Amino acid sequence: MAELVFFSGTMDCGKSTLALQMDHNHRARQRVGQIFTKLDRMGESVLSSRLGLSTQAHEVTDELDFWDVVVEHLTHGQRVDYLICDEAQFYTGAQIEQLARVVDELGIDVNCFGITADFRTELFPGAKRLFELADRVQVLQVAALCWCGERATHNARIIDGVMVVEGEQVVVGDTATATESLVEYEVLCRRHYMRRMNSHAARKASVTPDVLPFDLDVCPVPPRA
Ligand SMILES: [Zn+2]
Repeated sequence: MAELVFFSGTMDCGKSTLALQMDHNHRARQRVGQIFTKLDRMGESVLSSRLGLSTQAHEVTDELDFWDVVVEHLTHGQRVDYLICDEAQFYTGAQIEQLARVVDELGIDVNCFGITADFRTELFPGAKRLFELADRVQVLQVAALCWCGERATHNARIIDGVMVVEGEQVVVGDTATATESLVEYEVLCRRHYMRRMNSHAARKASVTPDVLPFDLDVCPVPPRA
């Protein structure tokens, strides 16, 4: 039976590397797939991993209809055995429903890769719909690490070195915005996420992993706005 699977994790946990490896494994068995991604850090229509591998991919826009794309391939006599969908957190709920239909009615395996929650700890729309519809959700086991060495579970947005918890949901990292601010992302453990202590703030406060857990006095949980 074909399946809709969601491979989820934080940033830096190797999702795109696994997506590329999975594609390679299928190809080695003469299976034919289609690769999709959205807002990859290397630019449009590329699926890239931090380890330096990359491949061509379809760029997903809000208007793209997965059902139409796959049916188009099939009506042109092309084989489609599986889909690999990276950055699936950015897809719309409707697109996740199209993917479920591709699984159910065309018997094609759909493997989605993505992070679950944004820098405010709120679920991305695509991730939310995948949790609701996927046959399986697999949490990736390559743990990303917080600067303190603990397992990182949260994605923090850093603007000019300072962690923020408000703003637009989607801003691609490593970019200077119109106001010339540098937007970056950093994975943190929950404790340091809640205390808004990213690595830059920790360096400034001279907190080192050696003095944990005393750093909690240095960075109390900020009051809710
Ligand atoms: Zn930490």
